[in-house]
Amino acid sequence: MNPLRKPILAANWKMHKTVAEAVAFAEALQEQTGPLTDREAVIAPPFTSLDSLCRALKLEGYSASAQNCHWEEKGAFTGEISTVMIKDLGCRYVIVGHSERRHIFGETDEMIRKKAASVFTHGMVPIICVGELLVERDANSTFDVVGAQLDKALEGLVSDLVGRVVLAYEPVWAIGTGRTATPAQAQEVHAFIRARLEALFNKEVANRVRILYGGSVKPDNVDALMAEADLDGMLVGGASLEVASFKRIVQFES
Ligand code: PEP
Repeated sequence: MNPLRKPILAANWKMHKTVAEAVAFAEALQEQTGPLTDREAVIAPPFTSLDSLCRALKLEGYSASAQNCHWEEKGAFTGEISTVMIKDLGCRYVIVGHSERRHIFGETDEMIRKKAASVFTHGMVPIICVGELLVERDANSTFDVVGAQLDKALEGLVSDLVGRVVLAYEPVWAIGTGRTATPAQAQEVHAFIRARLEALFNKEVANRVRILYGGSVKPDNVDALMAEADLDGMLVGGASLEVASFKRIVQFES
């Protein structure tokens, strides 16, 4: 663990759990895991449970995240939720640019850039996801794709803010497929991202930014992934839906 970067173990529940299920999970996780001082546990529930979850996460080291947002404060955007509304709940993080948003709902780099900027404007921290498709990896364009997504998402942000950003490298071919990147494959891309941050901003910023890995993280591979120098946490889908499994991920050892 790099002392500059407190690890984040983040649960992305996607479209799962009712309010009662979300609250029961939050209570059980905190009761079984206790306060956290050397790591952070973050839960991103569907919007319907976000208010209740923000209230239920009471112990040190636990916080909530939204899974998405709109960049405008208000207006005629049926079905959308603004960063002002999310902040109002006491939420700390907002995931932006998840691959399901990019590839199922057609979100563009420009939309993701506006969302990340809006999250900062309203005093929260964006968890910005980047990652290549399998065809892009097979064509050896992983660095080109991830580099371009990163450049665009961070465009216009000052170094001070960029130092607080959380990035998530999520190779699309590893999400929900059971096919995890090896620790070495993940480390290679994380090191590339950190070098890119240094080139775009400076070394201090590059050393401060936490870069999470996501893609079929499970209790049995978390320790090996977390042992890599540039992996500062995990963004977890499927394995975050059961308390026992997410608890083990939060309690990673490396
Ligand atoms: C995700 O949704 O961000 C994710 C990584 O999902 P899974 O852990 O199920 O691959």
